[in-house]
Amino acid sequence: MNESITQQIDELREQCIRCDRCALSQTRNNVVFGEGNPESPLMIVGEGPGATEDATGHPFVGRAGKLLDEALAANRMSRKHVWIGNVVKCRACIIENGRTRNRPPTIEEVSTCTPWLEKQIEIIKPLVILALGAPSSKFIIKKDLRMTKERGIIYPTKYAHCAIAALHPAYILRQAGKEYDGGKSLLIADIDAARREVIRIKKESHDPRLSGDSADLVPSG
Ligand code: SF4
Repeated sequence: MNESITQQIDELREQCIRCDRCALSQTRNNVVFGEGNPESPLMIVGEGPGATEDATGHPFVGRAGKLLDEALAANRMSRKHVWIGNVVKCRACIIENGRTRNRPPTIEEVSTCTPWLEKQIEIIKPLVILALGAPSSKFIIKKDLRMTKERGIIYPTKYAHCAIAALHPAYILRQAGKEYDGGKSLLIADIDAARREVIRIKKESHDPRLSGDSADLVPSG
């Protein structure tokens, strides 16, 4: 394990969990900083925490997290092979009829919070980013990305060698029958595409920084 990367991530986490830059700090239970392997060449970026993530402080837990784990496992991977983060680190929610439910973060909340993600990316330096869902894909890849037509495509991004948009597990869970099965298959295929891109970039690169063990974290078979 690279001490310097781990230390930098730990220091950033310490700063981030005290953040009160936007109003979401007043309603959150936990900042969901992100977790996984900070040396991984593959970063997965979702939109933001939901109720379970807010309650636990961990990204992608609950049913959506289980589906993500299954899609990783179908590629012979687990959370130890990737870093998982979010565009926004605190839960965005509203109270309706006495019930708290998730809402999309506002443009202001996203722009206030994304410097935290950008710092994570700066430290981790992923080769490939898999963006889950439209808000994450629009931030990482391009503002006018259309998930229906453009998921699964390998795009250039200023944040890594390339990025791929994939369906968000929470969206897949809202589908039923064939749509659910199809969505899950696409998620598995997009993780596979991201994994293959890591391997391709490493093979084709003459950059000595890419010849270490970190790219080997992604299974190559
Ligand atoms: S959402 Fe981001 S910017 Fe807002 S308080 Fe949480 S960590 Fe800070």
